[in-house]
Amino acid sequence: MSSAIDNPQPSLPTQRLLGKVALVTGGASGIGESITRIFHLQGAKICIADLQDDLGNKVSESLGGEENVCFFHCDVTLEDDVSRAVDFTVAKFGTIDIVVNNAGISGSPCLDIRQTDLSEFEKVFNINVKGVFHGMKHGARIMIPRKKGSIISLASVASATGGMGPHAYVGSKHAVLGLTKNVAAELGKHGIRVNCVSPYGVLTDLSLAHLPEDERTEDAKVGFLAFMAKNANLQGVELTTEDVGNAVLFLASDEAKYISGVNLMVDGGFTSVNHSLKVFRS
Ligand code: NAD
Repeated sequence: MSSAIDNPQPSLPTQRLLGKVALVTGGASGIGESITRIFHLQGAKICIADLQDDLGNKVSESLGGEENVCFFHCDVTLEDDVSRAVDFTVAKFGTIDIVVNNAGISGSPCLDIRQTDLSEFEKVFNINVKGVFHGMKHGARIMIPRKKGSIISLASVASATGGMGPHAYVGSKHAVLGLTKNVAAELGKHGIRVNCVSPYGVLTDLSLAHLPEDERTEDAKVGFLAFMAKNANLQGVELTTEDVGNAVLFLASDEAKYISGVNLMVDGGFTSVNHSLKVFRS
């Protein structure tokens, strides 16, 4: 039997995504922007696919411009847009090793099913589920012939439990997890890994979207952070977009070469503990 002493681990490369190409949907702001910046630091070439041209181009310019990080206007609800974003990335950087399906919305904050508008429900599913499906489908188109690749989608703590927000949002994030497992089941034979990452609440435009616009002040941000901290399991530390980006980086990198079909919770244990009993809270 061989041991770790017989087979010492090769030392990790200093840049964990050196030579890799990634497509990041929703990479112009929030968690997607952090993923883009972290991937760039780790040596990847990145195409940001987003609706927000100004922000997307600004992120690209701040990272040295098109040679490193390019922008492609893309609405993930439209299959043609995602297909063209994939082809554009391949034309620009030669291939795609990593697809991050990050674009998402929280939708209307309505919590009453009787008042939930079907068009609002469909809008959330179109972006959060159809958008992810499009990224998986067109990423797989490039990855299958290459027999490798990593697809990572942003789910949420709302993929693991109910009572976490509006019905459409929670339903859509459960669907992202289901798609992740089923596409991992199909693409394993091609050497392609498919995973999702599920953060607890992070301060971004999406998390603030539930507040009326005139209340999105510094105080509202403080209020959001206090609310999340009070309800968190892990105390004394605040979740940031960089923490989520680092979890995505791990799944994208070769360090996760045998990890597929998982939902990596970035929630400080929130979805693992029973919040109703609170026996450990003093
Ligand atoms: P955000 O609003 O800050 O960023 C989302 C990005 O997606 C924006 O740049 C937006 O332009 C883009 N986008 C929206 N609709 C799009 C479309 N149709 N086509 C292309 N791009 C589109 O949100 P965020 O908080 O960074 O969220 C990113 C992901 O993380 C989402 O899937 C979200 O559900 C998930 N998430 C967020 C939190 C949180 O607390 N912020 C928690 C758990 C999961």
